[in-house]
Order: sequence, then C-alpha cells, then structure tokens
Amino acid sequence: MDGNKDIQILRIGHRPERDKRITTHVALTARAFGASGIFIDTKDPAIEENIENVNRNFGGNFFVKSGVEPKEIASQNGFLKIHLTMYGLPLKDTIEKIKESHKKTNDRILIIVGAEKVPFWAYETSDYNVSVTSQPISEVSALAILMDRLNEGKELEFSLKGMRRIIPMERGKKVDYIPDGEECLLILQRNNATQRILDHVLMVEQLATSIASRCNANMDLVRAGALLHDIGRTVTNGIDHAVKGAEILRGAKVSEEIVKIVERHTGAGITKEEASKLGLPVKDYTPITIEEKIVAQADNLVSGNKIITLEETVENYKRKNLFEASKKIVMLNEDIEKICGINLKEICQELTNK
Ligand code: SAM
Repeated sequence: MDGNKDIQILRIGHRPERDKRITTHVALTARAFGASGIFIDTKDPAIEENIENVNRNFGGNFFVKSGVEPKEIASQNGFLKIHLTMYGLPLKDTIEKIKESHKKTNDRILIIVGAEKVPFWAYETSDYNVSVTSQPISEVSALAILMDRLNEGKELEFSLKGMRRIIPMERGKKVDYIPDGEECLLILQRNNATQRILDHVLMVEQLATSIASRCNANMDLVRAGALLHDIGRTVTNGIDHAVKGAEILRGAKVSEEIVKIVERHTGAGITKEEASKLGLPVKDYTPITIEEKIVAQADNLVSGNKIITLEETVENYKRKNLFEASKKIVMLNEDIEKICGINLKEICQELTNK
C-alpha cells in the first residue's frame, strides 16, 4: 500500500460461534487499511463469503483462508512476524526497529492476533511481541493502530475500486453504484432483455472498451454504459428508448454517470429543440463526457451484432432522411479521434478481422 509492504494477518483461536463478528471486523479493518489477506485457523465459510461479498461490492481481492494450520503459516519463510499482545514490548518503543528490519529484508509482514488464550508458540515464533497498551483492548483497535504506525498514516489515503463507491458527505449517505460486466448482464436479465439486445450490447461493449482502452477514459463507466445502453429497448423500441433506459437505471440506483451515458447515446445526441419536436422530456441529450461520446459512437458503428463502417452508418441515416443526424455522427467520429489521437476505422477493422 505504501508501495512496498505486503501485510497479511494470522488470526488464531477463532471460535466461529463466538468470534464471527469480531474476526470479520479484524478482516474488514485489515482489508480497508491495505493488507492483502487473512489466515484464520478455524474453518469458517461464512466469514469467507462475507468478505468475498465486500470485495465484490467495494473492490480489491483481499483473501480469506480459514481452516489453516497456524503454525505452518507462521513458520513460512519470508515473513516478518509481529504478534499483537498486551504482554509485549510497547509499540512506541518497537515501531522504528520493526520498520528498520522491514527495510532490510522487504519481507511480507505477518501480524498475529489472538482470540482466545494465545498459545506460547506464538510468542516464541514472532520476531516482535508488541503491545499497543498494557491494558486489554480489542484486537480490531490494536490492529488498526499497528497498521497505522507501520504505514505512517498512508492507509487513510488507500482506496479500492469496486462496484459501490462511497461519496463522502458532510451529512447523509451517498453511494455510487457502478455495476461490473457480470452485474450489468444480471440487470439486463432481470429486465427481460432479449437475446437480440444481448448480442447487440455485447458487441457495442467490445468496440467501446476497445476504443476506451486507447483513450484516457474510465473503463468501468464505458463497460457498464455500453452493456446497459439499450436496456430501455426492453420496454420500447421508439426514439424514447434511451430516456426509458435512463429511468430504469435510476430506479436501480445505478451511478448517474452511467445513466447519462445511456440517456445521451441516441445517434450523436439530441438537442433540446429536437427533443421537444420528438416529444421527449425537453432537455439536451448531447453526449458530453468522453465516456458518453465513446458509447454513442460505438453504438453508431454496430448494427445488430456486426461492426459496420462509418459510411454505412451515414447511408442508413440518410436513407431515413436523417441528414442532420448523419452529419453529427461524422463530427462525433472526428471529435473522438481528435480527443484520443486514434483512428476509429482501424480499431473497427481490427475487431472485425479477429
Ligand atoms: N485472552 C487473550 C490472551 O490471552 O492473549 C486475549 C484476548 S484479546 C481480546 C484478543 C487479542 O487482542 C489478543 O490476542 C491480542 O492480539 C489483541 N490485544 C488485546 N489487547 C492488546 C493490547 N493491549 N496490545 C496489543 N494487542 C492486544
């Protein structure tokens, strides 16, 4: 987390019926502060599943291995072992020594925390037996303080990228929901998307993410936006399908950044005046962010589940007498190429030849 510390936790004496909550909290604290995983001596599938869910929603791949032989873990080479115990030497007197030892070896750090009475071997095998205070305290607080000192406060800047992004608020709660690919497909399924819709959005996703990977665009937003852009077609195939799609996604509390991608994906966008004539809620539906532009144009360059050329798209629009819209699509193409310094025709050809 500060670039060179791999911290892992060994939890010994875990009693599933009594310690489930506190051991989960040890794992959550370790994870949030940048540790890579936790070993738990007693098998506890519920904790493993809990943390898996947290990883899935809030990011990272913090591991939980329960039912391990603790002595075996602690006897592995390449670990600097720190045992947290109220009987150890004060943290304030040992922290600099620990950091120096770590600097020399750059070993992984194993922090041993107990639950019930800790066996003597843990004291013997550890490089440092450390007390945060000489009073009994919770292992969660002891771990948090040790990690804070090891990382010199940098864990407070540590962030993970998951489906749910907390937006810090002075008051109240705000959570941004950015579904991953799997979750987007589930949302589509729940809304009874047909195979035809699925085939189309999967191809748009391929093209959009291919463009986004060569551009300074947010891949998670582009992926979700591309997969969900036609969710409104589950209720209508009219010009209002993007508006309906945005409504569905707002109802599912999906991030507003994704909702906007969906709402603004029709052609190269719809102006306020055009919206009024088309009977849509009167507002501007022009794609603004690079993610919005990429998804709109990827959709323009995919017909059904096939990539088509810009010229073919323009022809299709002209055939429907949509001359202004066809001009805007050409301009959007140029705009993306200029912003990203890429050639969209080449990207389309690469994918078509795959
Ligand atoms: N009965 C246990 C024993 O004999 O060590 C202590 C139970 S205590 C609630 C659980 C764990 O919290 C301990 O094993 C230790 O890792 C940690 N802990 C509690 N107080 C601590 C302190 N003052 N300093 C460091 N770690 C502490």
